[in-house]
Amino acid sequence: QSAQVMPPPENGIRVYLRVRPTKRPSGFLRLDDDDPSRVDFEIPPDVAASHNAKSTYKFKFNGIIDQDAKQDEVFDRVAKDAALSAMEGFNATVFAYGQTGSGKTFTMTGGAERYVDRGIIPRALSLVFEEVEKRSDVQITTHISYLEIYNDAGYDLLDPSHEYKGLEDLPKVSMMEDEDGNVHLKNLSMHVANTEEDALNLLFLGDTNRAISETPMNLASSRSHCIFTISLEMRKAGSDVIRRSKLHLVDLAGSERVHKTSSSGQLLREAKHINSSLHFLEMVIVALHERSSRGRQHIPYRNSMMTNVLRDSLGGNCKTTMVATISLEKSNTEESISTCRFAQRVA
Ligand code: ADP
Ligand code: MG
Repeated sequence: QSAQVMPPPENGIRVYLRVRPTKRPSGFLRLDDDDPSRVDFEIPPDVAASHNAKSTYKFKFNGIIDQDAKQDEVFDRVAKDAALSAMEGFNATVFAYGQTGSGKTFTMTGGAERYVDRGIIPRALSLVFEEVEKRSDVQITTHISYLEIYNDAGYDLLDPSHEYKGLEDLPKVSMMEDEDGNVHLKNLSMHVANTEEDALNLLFLGDTNRAISETPMNLASSRSHCIFTISLEMRKAGSDVIRRSKLHLVDLAGSERVHKTSSSGQLLREAKHINSSLHFLEMVIVALHERSSRGRQHIPYRNSMMTNVLRDSLGGNCKTTMVATISLEKSNTEESISTCRFAQRVA
């Protein structure tokens, strides 16, 4: 086995800001003409006054994806590298982070109506199967799994009994760690996909199941994290060595804060889990930065299901990208700033 040359460890994850199209021109997001990765938020005066806020906030990202960007451009800028590095045998993760309604699912899965609107997941699948075709000297097996994390418990979106059972009746996905510290997931099915179509059908099945568990009382999709994972096993002709890698495509739960006064018990419980799991994700990413810059050793993966599941796919040689999504309605100003702040802390 020839040793693969490792790319230099990347400091930090790449963070992009994506602005959802709005009908009403907003006027309070200003892109910097000299530096296309910088943005100024002008806070509407009345909003600033009522929240005792500053009138301008400045943020910098690895790139800004403006309202008129097309899905193919988004894929090329944000996820193509990650998918290609998975083909090279490295784990990679792409996240969408933002408040409900800001375009996370549109970014990851895409719009259902038009083919050009398909998102990062179907495009990653196209790329993977294209590459599989090209590499005739390598035998590649592709597995798909689709995990939903709700209130820090995992559920298999590809469980065949999902159709007639509610979330609460499904077996929970649990974690087991082997002697080498690798995490294995029990009750999460892995499906072989021989073709792009097989894989797309699994995505479609999972999304259907995700919608089924969603009732007006339980808007699970905005309150749960969904992790679509493409696992690759690669073996060169004539070699016994198997390389394994995973590409995780993550549609995070809505990041909005739920106001205590207007929320029922269930909502509050969900909000607590979402806030803490996003916070634990942030802690892990920040700790990974500190490890690369200051030699910090301990990474707090164990605090939540999500960070446990992704522990071998963040930091180090893993390409990690986050798309922070915002929408520019005035009523969303606070959440948009809060999303940008989160994005700055993990960048
Ligand atoms: P989230 O998953 O963050 O709650 P969605 O992705 O469901 O948000 O987006 C909310 C609505 O806005 C959906 O109807 C979606 O199709 C639409 N939408 C979001 N982003 C875009 C975009 N870039 N172009 C066109 N429509 C979009
Ligand atoms: Mg969504």
